[in-house]
Amino acid sequence: MATFPEARRWPGSEWLKNHPRLLERAYAFSEQAVRAAWPLLQRISPQASRRLIFWLEKPAKKVIFNCQMCGQCILHSTGMTCPMNCPKNLRNGPCGGVRANGHCEVIPEIACVWTQAWRRDAQMAHYAGEIQLLQPPVNRTLQQTSSWANMLDGVDNQTPPGWQQ
Ligand code: SF4
Repeated sequence: MATFPEARRWPGSEWLKNHPRLLERAYAFSEQAVRAAWPLLQRISPQASRRLIFWLEKPAKKVIFNCQMCGQCILHSTGMTCPMNCPKNLRNGPCGGVRANGHCEVIPEIACVWTQAWRRDAQMAHYAGEIQLLQPPVNRTLQQTSSWANMLDGVDNQTPPGWQQ
């Protein structure tokens, strides 16, 4: 099912997303932190550690990226712009329907998520150019799970049956 950007968002999120270098540093720091903590958390309780990391990830990414908890985060490959905010949920974009003013063909009031993603990708220091990588279809069975936990468990590399890269 298509997801749509929320009308009311934290006003600072646009400013932050337009500074993707700050966000990629924060991403690198969070990745290191969760990787360091994960083995200990797993020893204590695998179930509880998944729940804990889900509740850390969900509000933080919701407020900044309007994250839809797809469970397979590719933010650093999309200019730190969440692709699941595209009404078509494209994982590679933009589609052919972008309007001449750079807005979405489905919701004309909003800028195309993918034109923003391409612009921001070019501004990144470390991950610039990753937007050119072909992304597999999103695995819907991971919806509403933690992409951080899925990354640490290696589950986020799973693709729908039949997909070959
Ligand atoms: S986890 Fe999925 S929905 Fe959330 S920010 Fe990353 S790509 Fe977007």
